[in-house]
Amino acid sequence: MSASAAARCHRCGAELAAGDEAIDVDGAGQHRLANRGGLVFDVRCFGHAPGCAAGGPATDEDTWFAGHTWQRAFCRRCGVHAGWLFRGVTRVFFALVAAPAPARGSGGRR
Ligand SMILES: [Zn+2]
Repeated sequence: MSASAAARCHRCGAELAAGDEAIDVDGAGQHRLANRGGLVFDVRCFGHAPGCAAGGPATDEDTWFAGHTWQRAFCRRCGVHAGWLFRGVTRVFFALVAAPAPARGSGGRR
């Protein structure tokens, strides 16, 4: 079994990025990000996210990763906001909001 699960849309379940596209950024594959409004997001980083479309203006305002601009990234299937696309001089990556862990203790099938 793969150590890294694919990133999936939290609304429609579409695959956003394959598990083997997961990458470490600044030493970790998962980051907890808080925006100016106090919302907290647990995100995983991926080098490619074919299931996502970036949209909106690119900006470096309040960027979470120094030297990188960001845009919002949306699910291609349903359009929900799924994370962010970061662009730096030497790398481009997606930070996708991790789906909340299921509350149920049994199962684990999708
Ligand atoms: Zn979706």
